[in-house]
Amino acid sequence: MRDPRYDILFEPMQIGPVTAKNRFYQVPHCNGGGYRDPSAAAAMRGSKAEGGWGVIFTEQCEMHHTSEITPFIELRLWEDKDIPMLHKMSDKMKEHGALAGIQLAYSGVNGPNLYSKEVPMAVSAQPIRTFTNDPVQARALDKADIKDLRRWFVNAAKRSKEAGFDLICLYGAHGFGIFQHFLSRATNHRTDEYGGSLENRARFVNEVIADMRDAVGDTIGITLRVSLDETIGDLGFSNAEVREFVEMNRNLPDLWDLAQGTWEDCSGPSRFKEEAAQHELVKGIHELTDKPIVGVGRFTSPDVMAKMIKSGTLDFIGCARPSIADPFLPKKIEEGRIEDIRECIGCNICVTGDMTMSISRCTQNPTFMEEWRKGWHPERMNTKGDSSNVLVIGAGPAGLEAARAVAERGYDVALAEAGTILGGRVARERHLPGLSAWGRVADYREYQLSQKANVESYFDSALDAESILEFGFENVCIATGAKWRRDGVSRQHVVPFPMDMAMPLFTPDDLMNGASPTGHVVIYDDDHYYMGGVLAELLIQKGCRVTLVTPAAYVSEWTLNTLEQHEIHRRLATMGVEIELNRGVTAINKDYVETNCMFTDMTRPLACDGVLLVSSRMENSAVYNDLKSREVDWADAGIKSVKLIGDANAPGPIAWATYAGHRYARELDGEDIGDALPFRREITQLSVD
Ligand code: ADP
Ligand code: SF4
Repeated sequence: MRDPRYDILFEPMQIGPVTAKNRFYQVPHCNGGGYRDPSAAAAMRGSKAEGGWGVIFTEQCEMHHTSEITPFIELRLWEDKDIPMLHKMSDKMKEHGALAGIQLAYSGVNGPNLYSKEVPMAVSAQPIRTFTNDPVQARALDKADIKDLRRWFVNAAKRSKEAGFDLICLYGAHGFGIFQHFLSRATNHRTDEYGGSLENRARFVNEVIADMRDAVGDTIGITLRVSLDETIGDLGFSNAEVREFVEMNRNLPDLWDLAQGTWEDCSGPSRFKEEAAQHELVKGIHELTDKPIVGVGRFTSPDVMAKMIKSGTLDFIGCARPSIADPFLPKKIEEGRIEDIRECIGCNICVTGDMTMSISRCTQNPTFMEEWRKGWHPERMNTKGDSSNVLVIGAGPAGLEAARAVAERGYDVALAEAGTILGGRVARERHLPGLSAWGRVADYREYQLSQKANVESYFDSALDAESILEFGFENVCIATGAKWRRDGVSRQHVVPFPMDMAMPLFTPDDLMNGASPTGHVVIYDDDHYYMGGVLAELLIQKGCRVTLVTPAAYVSEWTLNTLEQHEIHRRLATMGVEIELNRGVTAINKDYVETNCMFTDMTRPLACDGVLLVSSRMENSAVYNDLKSREVDWADAGIKSVKLIGDANAPGPIAWATYAGHRYARELDGEDIGDALPFRREITQLSVD
């Protein structure tokens, strides 16, 4: 059972008029579903309740229609009609004794109002500050508006109470909430009693909290989420000023929720931020207040968590991503099952669901946001079907997850891997600069497989169609992965382009297999995710001169969605990587490449000693195709089903592979649903008029 070292994590603690059963606090986090997929979001929160969290919050909830952040999909509490949807959410959160929290956001200078078409109102008149530089400006709130806004917060608080919430978090962090806009001189240029001195800048939050206490404070705890450092220099709400603010307003909220800085800082990927990265910023704040504090830091280690509380740094362990990767994290600590924790790898794929307005995925937890849509429980698999055994070929993320999850269902599993270690691509990519935490994808599954009596792993076992037919397993799951292309075909070039073989050419696989280019290497990145940037770091470390050429407008462009693009550019530029944006490569010659401008098509030569092609990947589907061509032999061999999954089916990010593995396991021996939709969804109810 529970290790007594962690007892402290299970002590109850009061937050205003309510009491949390333990110190596990799921801070607000987006999920890409929001108001469009309310039942999916509610079920996701419900899984955290079951997993033992003491406090569970919604994502940010727009509390008035005059401030909304379309195209991003969060929650809405604009009118009474929104209450039932939110009630469903709080009911789910409270099912196992957790406190249900709602985060109220008035976005001010961060809300472009593209949907409501209202003129945005902010603390001071300024251009809207969003990811997308919308060509919209906000007007300054006048005194009457401030009165209105105070009333709207009270209305939202009353509606939150009616919707069943125990806690309200006022959003003033990450640059997104109006409370921060009042507090920071970067966004507050007012000369009235709401601007100037810190006392004046803190007036609005004091007024709102007093109003809300009068309205709902007898039953609802009020928390305030502020950033520990706005990280924009002296003008912003700096860590020193945050400390001053807390000291001056010691007991203002019932709990201080301290986020790191910008969202990019607070949700920094593991490539750039360690566990507990906010420690220096939060240390010592506890002495300035009598109220409890929650802080974040991608906490996955119970030892670090216990230390944070024992040292008096934090009272609650705030988690967003660790609770996504493993909704049952508290329960596993409570039951002494530390080894079973599915640790977040800090890849920020979950964030991309929000940034792309789709629905979130998690690399480690394929069931995330599928709890309602597909009925996938994060810990329990469906029962076993009619057949009894499965041969999984390939031990990358897809094969490992398929093997783990079918074994969980009770099938006998043989896992055949051509190489000598488990993990496939992550076994290699974890050794690249900054990606070591990604190895957790393999580590978690390797341990789980080692605990199961019904799984056998076979190494050095490169199977072909013949051997598969000889083995005679009933179900064959082929997860043989993919390899990087050597012909440069990707987006700029849909067919191969001229290459002189006298130029040393490399693919990412070559580098991961130990090849060592020398001299000046041109990286031609037409993949646009992390690989080009990571390998630029590797090559600099190996002493090469590096020029990164990409047809995109940003280095590692898709990492805008994982909140790390700016860090990648900064790191590469600081290391001395020469960066050529908006340029492609049209030909590779003996001792130079010809690059072209993506707009004018004008070309110029770039002399180099080697070229690294980061283009696209080719599926390793030969085994599958051979087996498919011998379909007539399957019945005699006892084979009932053959399925191709993961990168071998269509290459993608690791999260796509674990999802494919999990889906395979869920659907094995399942009923044929024909043309039916394989997930549930909600459709807006049509108005009767
Ligand atoms: P995914 O991301 O889809 O899981 P990976 O490329 O990470 O794919 O992993 C594929 C794994 O399959 C690799 O470890 C590779 O060694 C293994 N593999 C490829 N072909 C075979 C084969 N014919 N027999 C057994 N293992 C194979
Ligand atoms: Fe962690 Fe990645 Fe899952 Fe997000 S997607 S919770 S960062 S493992």
